[in-house]
Amino acid sequence: MSTIGVLALQGAFAEHINKLNSLGVDAREVRMPADLEGLAGLIIPGGESTAIGKLIDRFNLREPIVSMAGSGKPLWGTCAGMILMGREVDADTRGPAQPLLGLMDLTTRRNAFGSQVDSFETELDMPVVSSERLPAVFIRAPVVSSVGDAVKILSQLPDGRIVAVQQGNLVATAFHPELTQVTDFHAWFVSLT
Ligand code: GLN
Repeated sequence: MSTIGVLALQGAFAEHINKLNSLGVDAREVRMPADLEGLAGLIIPGGESTAIGKLIDRFNLREPIVSMAGSGKPLWGTCAGMILMGREVDADTRGPAQPLLGLMDLTTRRNAFGSQVDSFETELDMPVVSSERLPAVFIRAPVVSSVGDAVKILSQLPDGRIVAVQQGNLVATAFHPELTQVTDFHAWFVSLT
């Protein structure tokens, strides 16, 4: 049976593992390069993008993650993971040291919802995943502020802000699908492997 990895350096990795397990899918915490061997796909969770980015380099995970993406295996970044998947962060929201994986042709805006409503739950349309509206939890969430031609928009908020994108085998969502009751997002990601 195929195994999905969840980058487990910092942030909300345990919840992703639980969701995958609840679907009967094997999941593995990834902390070092050897943990990536034989995986069918990888989730980069939410947390603090600056911290996760620095830890990726400290644990020599950059090169093997980039080569996994290049091999066509599916990767999915959620929230901070979405920031890491992108090539750029809007300059006025960028950390002083903000290492990115740069796998997807997109720019993100960190903490895009401001401090007042920095965490909220809503329902959104994401037709590739479900014909029903799906619950989504945003926690100090980013948005996608611009995309290249190769990037397909999968979901936007009613005001037009882009919160889910796909570029071939690479997926990024601004919200935390692992913190809701639904398993639809994870089932869809597993279907890409
Ligand atoms: N605000 C965080 C960042 O910019 C992301 C928050 C999250 O992943 N829930 O890194």
